[in-house]
Amino acid sequence: MTVIGTPETPHATRVLLMGSGELGKEVAIELMRLGVEVIAADRYAGAPAMQVAHRSLVLDMLDAEALRAAIDEVRPHLIVPEIEALATDVLVEVEREGVATVIPTARATRLTMDREGIRRLAAEELGLPTSPYRFVDTRDELVAAVAELGTPCVVKPVMSSSGKGQSVVREAADAGSAWDYALAGGRAQKARLIVEAFVEFDYEITQLTVRHVDGVTFLEPIGHVQEDGDYRESWQPHPMTAAARDRAREIADAVTSALGGHGVFGVELFVRGDEVLFNEVSPRPHDTGLVTVASQRLSEFALHARAILGLPVADAVETAPSASCAVLGEGSGVPIFGGVEQALAVPETDLRLFGKPRVEGRRRIAVTVARGDDVEVALDRARAAANALTVELA
Ligand code: AMP
Repeated sequence: MTVIGTPETPHATRVLLMGSGELGKEVAIELMRLGVEVIAADRYAGAPAMQVAHRSLVLDMLDAEALRAAIDEVRPHLIVPEIEALATDVLVEVEREGVATVIPTARATRLTMDREGIRRLAAEELGLPTSPYRFVDTRDELVAAVAELGTPCVVKPVMSSSGKGQSVVREAADAGSAWDYALAGGRAQKARLIVEAFVEFDYEITQLTVRHVDGVTFLEPIGHVQEDGDYRESWQPHPMTAAARDRAREIADAVTSALGGHGVFGVELFVRGDEVLFNEVSPRPHDTGLVTVASQRLSEFALHARAILGLPVADAVETAPSASCAVLGEGSGVPIFGGVEQALAVPETDLRLFGKPRVEGRRRIAVTVARGDDVEVALDRARAAANALTVELA
């Protein structure tokens, strides 16, 4: 049975959000609607989720001592990761000691912390289909892996996200520059990379999967396009053959039940005809799932909040054709948005301005979402709204 206390009293139900970006902000809002006390952590002050939380903590979440001290100070009931880059050994310890529940499980956060843990689980333990791959630690090993796998192939640092350090090697001679690029873009100093054969997929989807108190719920497939390894547009539902749709759910079920726990998972899949390959999984809401704030009565964020609190989600699957379009800020400075009236004048449109305090380089700073009679109309509307927005960096 779930009981929920009152925030900022000794009876509060406390959630420590590890990572405070735009996805964490939506989760924080949904938790607060249910009367939960939210403490938002990140490595910098003023992060989006901090702006809507009861309080915030600035710390290096890869620093085991700092992370443990934060947990001991907050005494959360639930620890809800929003990012991969955490001192996951501390989460394992905290879960073992019964100090807090780690969402979805401490093991899931450890296995998805880098690309190796999850790839080995999916391909080698569970026997799920993936692209052929090799892990390499040196330039010479990379050259050998490219020769073995053939070109084109994709090179990714095992510790990276949003396409950082990721590149496509089109000819064997390009392996050296892929090595240099990956090292510049990876999160860790450790030079470990995954090299994957390039998959000529027809389309790629995110299979959002909710594991909750009453079982498993599969949401409608989300189609998306990526540029430079980062999502630009997504839509839901994406049409699939019955066979591919069943296979996508089977793979999502296998990988999420191996990770365990309650919450939303974003299972990324490549589809070629009726064949479905596993790419990776987020044990939390997925950026391409931002479309669900328009398409579903309960967004992926609301579903995550419910599932992790042990509440039912079973009537959540109904979907209206919808799309989302990411808005990027490029340069250096504080984002200032114009054209908001014009964006919202597009029919059946909504938006989220993330409130990111600063842009350095290229960052996603807002998203538009829209409904339509079909996903094409929805996508046109989401694009029109995104094009109407202007971004100045002050
Ligand atoms: P990832 O960070 O692994 O999600 O990769 C980001 C995007 O790069 C994916 O969504 C795909 O569009 C593309 N990509 C990644 N791996 C491959 C691959 N092996 N073959 C073809 N495209 C890939």
